[in-house]
Amino acid sequence: MTKPWFPATLPADIWLRNATVPATLLDEATADAEGLARVDVRLTAGRIGAVAPIGTASDGIDLDRGQLWPCFVDGHVHLDKTQTGPRQPNATGTHPGAKAAVIADRARHYSEADIEPRFEFGLQCAYAHGTAAIRTHLDSYWPAAKPHWAVFRRLRDAWAGRIDLQAVSICPLERFAGDDGIALANEVAESGGILGMTTTGEGGQASSPAFQALLDPFFSMAEERGLSLDLHLDETGDPTSRTLDAVARTAIRRGFKAPIQVGHVCSLSVQPDDDAAATIAACAEAGLTVINLPMCNMYLQGRQEGRTPRWRGITMVHEFRAAGVPVSFASDNCSDPFYAYGDYDMMEVYREAVRIAQLDHPFGTWAASVTATPAASCGFADPRRIVVGAVADLVLFRGRSMTELLARPQSDRVVIRNGQPIDTALPDFRAMDAVVGAP
Ligand SMILES: [Zn+2]
Repeated sequence: MTKPWFPATLPADIWLRNATVPATLLDEATADAEGLARVDVRLTAGRIGAVAPIGTASDGIDLDRGQLWPCFVDGHVHLDKTQTGPRQPNATGTHPGAKAAVIADRARHYSEADIEPRFEFGLQCAYAHGTAAIRTHLDSYWPAAKPHWAVFRRLRDAWAGRIDLQAVSICPLERFAGDDGIALANEVAESGGILGMTTTGEGGQASSPAFQALLDPFFSMAEERGLSLDLHLDETGDPTSRTLDAVARTAIRRGFKAPIQVGHVCSLSVQPDDDAAATIAACAEAGLTVINLPMCNMYLQGRQEGRTPRWRGITMVHEFRAAGVPVSFASDNCSDPFYAYGDYDMMEVYREAVRIAQLDHPFGTWAASVTATPAASCGFADPRRIVVGAVADLVLFRGRSMTELLARPQSDRVVIRNGQPIDTALPDFRAMDAVVGAP
């Protein structure tokens, strides 16, 4: 799908002139009040060949101050659940309702033949929207989860060069006790994955000796196999849910060195300020990184029939960042019982994150939270910054200011991969009808 404002193909060596780039994604720049800088960017043989002050280039394509971003990194999704919403909706819109719906749907339908086309549909959406790297969680109740990991390995290889794909196990912590837990950890290691689990933490779970007696062996499993961790923690508005604090202190005590990314950690926001501050300090000391899922949190948290929600469901992103903890934002679920909407569009995620978490006035350096920060936190090879030598994977928008960028969905964006514009046509939802039924 060609865009009226941009050529369908580019020469191997071309300047993109008069571009507006979030300054935090450049090596050297003078930011304006919105954190933006004006530069000329040269593309050379599929890479960024030069980044120069505006006015340097005398030829090339004039972007007329439109914004130019690196391709996005979506550091927390669930591609094995995606698009199941039409056949198995969440009856109540709550977190327990989502869990019940997924358990029923998984038992009835999940197989390689069911997961693979849905998973690939998600990749197609992400690619067309301008995402170049994804970390997906995979439901990992062993041995039932073998198809999930088989599909991941196949599609990771098939999509190499288009989407850099990582996978994380997700199942309740207690599933790691016993032989199935060992077999799962071995599968994660053999697939080049990341070890993950989930806690609800409700009812003071973290303070029970039984919880710590599960958590330490889980850390041991990662240490023995040299695995990173990525954990779903405290996805609840119950203030007694404090498994994040337990995880951070366990990592410190053990001297755990591999990266740990934690997702959700919603309940932190409803705890007393001093308690939350102590946990955030422990996270900083442990070297944790936080990934926030604002659309999913806003959808599930605080939902009670007949009662208007009173909080936004998200964790303390500003306080984490002030303490030096890297914070990213991601899609999480798309069209499944945990979130009825979503399309793997990281510009939508950024736009919603700005609104929900008030990442504006000033916008500061938050543009990195959907690009460079998750690239670093997840350990992807490309930095996803506009720097010389990086792959020329770019997203171009007509929006010039942050107001113009965030006021519209930017559906007319141009996505450049390895120096060439790609087809940004989205797959038709009707392609899923044969898999999950028509809505
Ligand atoms: Zn998730």
